[in-house]
Amino acid sequence: MGARSRGYARIVDPALAKPQESDTITCGHCQKVVHLHDRTGKARSGVLVHCHQCGSQTCVPCAETARCEPFEKKLDQIEARGRLLAAIGI
Ligand SMILES: [Zn+2]
Ligand SMILES: [Zn+2]
Repeated sequence: MGARSRGYARIVDPALAKPQESDTITCGHCQKVVHLHDRTGKARSGVLVHCHQCGSQTCVPCAETARCEPFEKKLDQIEARGRLLAAIGI
């Protein structure tokens, strides 16, 4: 378990019935799966943006917010809140 004990759900797009023959990168901010190739196998350009603040690859919508909000950080905040609520008995 260790570092992998944290819950993790992969969002599967029901429109993609069969596995895609495509390289994917997970956005470091929102965990959206970004496909690096289109359906014809052609490489897509401009679908990933490097975040200079956390060093991860992010999707374009995240890059356009111009904020660095790594998913891990949000998760930590949610967990901290959960612990707080548990501690005060809610
Ligand atoms: Zn994103
Ligand atoms: Zn970032």
